[in-house]
Amino acid sequence: MSSIIPPQDETGTEAGPSRAPGPSRRSLAAQAMGRIDPVTRAVVAPLHVSTTFIRDPDNAYSSGFSYARPDNATVREAESVIAMLEGAEAGALLFGSGMAAATAVFTALEPGDHAVAPRVMYWALRRWLREEAPRRTLTVDFVDTDDLDALRAAMRPGRTKLVWIETPGNPLWTITDIAGAADIAHAAGARLAVDSTAASPIHTRPLTLGADIVMHSATKILNGHSDVVAGVLAAGRADAFWERIGAIRANGGAILGPFEAYLLMRSLRTLPLRAAAQAASALDLAQRLRRHAFVASVLYPGLPDDPGHAVAARQMEGGFGYMLSIRVRGGEAAAVGTAARVRLWKRATSLGGVESLVEHRASVEGPGSPCPPDLLRLSTGLEDPGDLFADLDAALWAAHGGEDPRA
Ligand SMILES: *Cc1c(COP(=O)(O)O)cnc(C)c1O
Repeated sequence: MSSIIPPQDETGTEAGPSRAPGPSRRSLAAQAMGRIDPVTRAVVAPLHVSTTFIRDPDNAYSSGFSYARPDNATVREAESVIAMLEGAEAGALLFGSGMAAATAVFTALEPGDHAVAPRVMYWALRRWLREEAPRRTLTVDFVDTDDLDALRAAMRPGRTKLVWIETPGNPLWTITDIAGAADIAHAAGARLAVDSTAASPIHTRPLTLGADIVMHSATKILNGHSDVVAGVLAAGRADAFWERIGAIRANGGAILGPFEAYLLMRSLRTLPLRAAAQAASALDLAQRLRRHAFVASVLYPGLPDDPGHAVAARQMEGGFGYMLSIRVRGGEAAAVGTAARVRLWKRATSLGGVESLVEHRASVEGPGSPCPPDLLRLSTGLEDPGDLFADLDAALWAAHGGEDPRA
């Protein structure tokens, strides 16, 4: 098992004497930043549920806390770990969902602004951008952002204020070059925001590659136990735009609840290990499935001949993430039939949990989806990868009229 554990990274203890010593991201996450409660000496921070706080006799709030809609101490604890993992100098902001976090970024734009987003992206955000953004007189163009020439051609210098990318991009796991996209956005006077949900901060740190804002659906691998809905934004620079996003969260009441923040905090302690193990299993599955008689293709940036592999190898570290898709021979019926026959895999939406999930994505996204009908989306969890392959293998054979070895 030790091979899947990420080595000490650049902030790690293997740094030579000329480099500033300090614990690695893995060590800091394991100890939730190492804070000890000053009152009890507890190693786990208390859960702060109070909605209100006593005002000082001189009318000040010396603790910094006054009311729980704008701010909460338990939420701050989880935010500090995520900011550390992302290298986010300006900090992180937790929201009640990934969608609340993502839409806060677009809401912070001015009426009449132009934004660019991927043609293939997380479908609920694409739907929001199609239906809600125009009502705010926001113009959004959808382009294949993995093609930097197409992205450059979509920029309207002076009007484009935001480039939104998602890498790896759901559900085809296309890779967008973050540094290249940052250069294009900045040259046109726009910001770059990256939905990094499928990468996790363990495998990609967009802020270190030039992005201005990174977003995660913390519902996915950050929490990783399929029991919290949450979202987060983190930023490198505390500029006016970032402050506006903070005001949107505070005034719109979109902060994460303290119980959810507590569960998320607990999960973040094991994130480096979970992410590494899940990515190692995803790669193992991708390699085995690409040779399968009933799999037409495997979409996974960790495969050397994947169109995104070269860029992924440059901008991802320690693995290529926990998400892959397969295109099943025999079309939609065979894909749905395979999903119907899994036993160990769970047939459900979402991703990043410790239990592996399979989903016929076109059924979820409905008409107009760019998702091919023969595609199954696989979220690799923490089960034995041999068991995961055997279960999918049996389901593929059974869906194609073969004998089910599990029968
Ligand atoms: C799930 C998801 C979202 C939305 O997050 P919620 O927490 O469900 O609101 C956004 N982007 C990606 C890539 C996702 O997988």
